Formats: sequence, structure tokens, C-alpha cells
Amino acid sequence: MTVLDACLSPHVVMAQRDHVRLEWRRPYPALGRVRSVAWTCFCRATVYELCEGAGRAFLRRTVQRDGGDDEVHETSTWPVGEARVIWTALLSGRAR
Ligand SMILES: [Zn+2]
Repeated sequence: MTVLDACLSPHVVMAQRDHVRLEWRRPYPALGRVRSVAWTCFCRATVYELCEGAGRAFLRRTVQRDGGDDEVHETSTWPVGEARVIWTALLSGRAR
């Protein structure tokens, strides 16, 4: 099976030269219950998720490492609508 056959989730495209640089920080438990509402394909080492909770949303970036010691960073939170716009920008290479 090729990678393409297995992929159901979107991949991020290469970041544009003038893309918005998001601030990625160490995660901290601030929002309480959070659910992942969108995510990129796990076939890539770096997986992005759109997470929502308590009317706010943020992006989570996980770098999958061999041995399971994943590296996780998150953005600060935005209103849900704003976060969805940023999520779309991330997927299309306009933010990263
Ligand atoms: Zn994939």
C-alpha cells in the first residue's frame, strides 16, 4: 500500500515564504476539557490538530518520534471562529 492510498486526512502544504509565524509553546492545562475537531494526516512526522474547548480553540503540533517520546507544542487560544480561520491558513501554507 502506498502512503497516498492510506491517507484520509489532509496534509499541510509547504509554508509560503511570507507565512504567518504562529507562536508554539509548551502545552499547559488551561482549558479543561478539550476535544480535537480536526487533524492532519498521521503519515507525516508532524501532526497538527485543531482543538476546541470552553468556546476557545487552539492548535496543537505533535512531532512523532520513534520510541513514542512525542514533542508537543500548542498555540495560545483564540475564539473558535478565529482559530478555524488560522487552521485553514495553516493547511494552505499561509501560517505555520
Ligand atoms: Zn498522509
